[in-house]
Amino acid sequence: MKNIVLLGATGSIGQSTLNVLRQNSDSFNLLGIAFNNNFDIALDIANEFKPDFIFYSANVTNKDHPLFSFDAEILSRSANLREMIQHPKVDVVISAVSGFAGLEASYFAIDAGKIILVANKESIVSAGDLLIPLADKKNTTIVPIDSEHNAIHQCLLVDNDLTKILKLLITASGGPFKELSMEELKHVSIQDALKHPTWVMGPKITIDSATLVNKCLELIEANYLFDIPESKIDIAVHPQSIVHSMITFIDGSTIAHLSNPKMEVPIANALGLEGRLPIQFDELDFSSLELTFEPIPEGRESIFQIAREVCRNRGNLGTIFNAANEIAVQAFIDQRINFVDIYEVVIRTFSHFSCSNIESLEEIFEYDKQARIQAEKVIKSIN
Ligand code: NDP
Ligand code: MG
Repeated sequence: MKNIVLLGATGSIGQSTLNVLRQNSDSFNLLGIAFNNNFDIALDIANEFKPDFIFYSANVTNKDHPLFSFDAEILSRSANLREMIQHPKVDVVISAVSGFAGLEASYFAIDAGKIILVANKESIVSAGDLLIPLADKKNTTIVPIDSEHNAIHQCLLVDNDLTKILKLLITASGGPFKELSMEELKHVSIQDALKHPTWVMGPKITIDSATLVNKCLELIEANYLFDIPESKIDIAVHPQSIVHSMITFIDGSTIAHLSNPKMEVPIANALGLEGRLPIQFDELDFSSLELTFEPIPEGRESIFQIAREVCRNRGNLGTIFNAANEIAVQAFIDQRINFVDIYEVVIRTFSHFSCSNIESLEEIFEYDKQARIQAEKVIKSIN
């Protein structure tokens, strides 16, 4: 029986993870959960899974909600989050908070040498230079949940000698706007951007998928997680979201990972660690499959050039890129900028900073803060 801490339990990945745990209840015990302020869903989870620890991060003064009288340790300070994650009983931490807010918890888990399953790509992008060496030092494993990266992780089981890799291809659904020109994109609404054609996900990643910045984050995530140079990583738009990624080796063999687009599949693989877990899934119907691959839509190249620069130079650049994007996405959701302005905010904020090494979490928090301030200035200048 493995003891699990699930961070972001009330979110989309959190719920998919609980589906996998439900189907494998003999193998896993949900020891702790973390969320922000969704007390109703947290209470449902608590009633069903009876975790020992429940952490929330929101600032709450009114403690009338029945969750507060639940028979578990109810925690809310950062120090408590650390204690929960680093508790000796914890075997596996699942990092599925959305955005930069997930970084501290990812750090706590890796620092304690816990096995960490990462959906929270923003922590890898923002702090790859810190987290990857720390995982090596603590001799722990970072297992990707992001479908493309979990696909790569599985392809690498065939041969993990990086010198034998010719190319890695990351697929992108293309989001709801792949047919639209940059001019047309100026007029799309938040509701349009939140309609993803193949995946059901939280709002931030859904907007990122519509801008394709999600794929930029994933390029950086892959560069850090697998230590593959960006020059060997291609991106292709694959609207069916069936092939999640593929690797071509120097002997001409290409290994791909396929499944219907359902996050339970990579989550089950990651949770299975050394073995495969049974889950319910829709089998692929190969007789009706149509798999197409297209280049990135016109006009979006410059954002990928920046992401590639992040991969080449690393340091604080991922922190800046991620922070600028988070501010820009929120400004779009708040209707302060239009959809295309998201690119302008990221590009102009990014160009304001130069590359520096980072050596501590505090430095990352500082660069993140500075980038957010700068992104707000860019937004003001646009309006
Ligand atoms: P959601 O918005 O659906 O869920 C976010 C979760 O994080 C919620 O549980 C939320 O709590 C919690 N949360 C937010 N802020 C904090 C905080 N400060 N402290 C603790 N918990 C917090 O996001 P997704 O599940 O879609 O995405 C989660 C991560 O997984 C993201 O990094 C995303 O990029 C990645 N990912 C998601 C995929 C998907 O299919 N959804 C696919 C691949 C990667 P509350 O509900 O209380 O607000
Ligand atoms: Mg993905």
